[in-house]
Amino acid sequence: MERAIYLSRVAGLEKRTGGCFGAVVVKNGKIVGEGYNNVISHNDPTWHGEVGAIRDASQRLGTPHLRGCVLYTSSEPCPMCMGACYWARIDKIFYATTAKDVKEHGHFEDEDFYEEFAKPPADRNIPAVEFMREEAVKVWEEFGQLPDRCHY
Ligand SMILES: [Zn+2]
Repeated sequence: MERAIYLSRVAGLEKRTGGCFGAVVVKNGKIVGEGYNNVISHNDPTWHGEVGAIRDASQRLGTPHLRGCVLYTSSEPCPMCMGACYWARIDKIFYATTAKDVKEHGHFEDEDFYEEFAKPPADRNIPAVEFMREEAVKVWEEFGQLPDRCHY
């Protein structure tokens, strides 16, 4: 966690690449991935510290799945990063600051997004509406018939 907090300082105060967010992935007591916020430096709204650390660990370990790994992040993960942890099959997450802390000190909206996702999709600030389902399901039907389809 000390390394994750150090990386949050690098991002937000030293290199000024984005907000004060840093993260590391640890396996068997060793750091196997690191990341910090690069949203501003790369104009990439998805480049959060946790996503960076998961990408780094997955590349280094040669797998999209990080079972047996623990994520240490300087802040409570936003919904996107929490989703990334689920997709990566991370075992456990430790976080330092809370969503409330980053809203209070940095005006980040993580807490608001969690409230948004609790609403029905059509009632959110960004409405999500089903459209052309039948056409898209045909692709899935073909995919489901492939004997050697990729699965992860
Ligand atoms: Zn995030």
